[in-house]
Amino acid sequence: MRHIKYRAQIAPTSLRRFRRAMLNFYRTEGRDLPWRRTRDPYAILVSEILLHQTTVATVAPVYEAFMAQFPTVSALASAELDAVKAITDPLGYKIRGTWLWQIAQQVTATHRGRMPTTLAELMDLPGVGRYTAGAVMSFAYGRRAGVLDTNVIRVLGRFFRLPADGTADRLHQLWAVAEAVVPPRQVWQFNQGIMDFGALCCRARQPQCGRCPLARHCPAAAGRASLAAEGGPQDVWFWDAPDVRRRPGA
Ligand code: SF4
Repeated sequence: MRHIKYRAQIAPTSLRRFRRAMLNFYRTEGRDLPWRRTRDPYAILVSEILLHQTTVATVAPVYEAFMAQFPTVSALASAELDAVKAITDPLGYKIRGTWLWQIAQQVTATHRGRMPTTLAELMDLPGVGRYTAGAVMSFAYGRRAGVLDTNVIRVLGRFFRLPADGTADRLHQLWAVAEAVVPPRQVWQFNQGIMDFGALCCRARQPQCGRCPLARHCPAAAGRASLAAEGGPQDVWFWDAPDVRRRPGA
């Protein structure tokens, strides 16, 4: 999803509450993962491509092997594609090895071997969508950018009463909220926190509402059927994002 359709505004109290909960969660329960020990945009991009449709536990050893063999984008660009795929193909979803190799070629040819630093440039790389680009922007550069993976979709959908209904419009709304909730500071911790919160507390099955810091205010908290059934998002307003590609006066 490349086009930004909406912006969102969230009521200040809900926004403060949500940000505080995610930051506290990361501080107390954040996971120590190999790709969280670096701010190298190349390494973070590698981890995000490998994590497509694959669990953290499965990816971790493959990520370590990949980075040991191809520690820099220039090392990857100089490699044979077969050598790259020998590491990545056992994960399944085999296009990923090709994407990574093509990314290295493109970064070398177009960006003189330096990783792009803007969302738009990152999204021009093979296999890089808005989520992956946002992850690199926030995890490598500490820039305010939303991340919206399956876990985050669930967390935002429950707390802000925007359950994924399979429509493109709802996905645009969720992206707008994912961007709006990111605080001006501690972007890295916040985005890691929201992903960990979705994986460990606000789980798909058996969410841990009993220990959730948001439970008193969450419409989807266990046992709160009547509130959850009310329509409309909680404390969120949307408006059309200006189309930055349109020329003034056009
Ligand atoms: S109260 Fe339950 S459903 Fe709501 S955010 Fe917390 S864990 Fe998720």
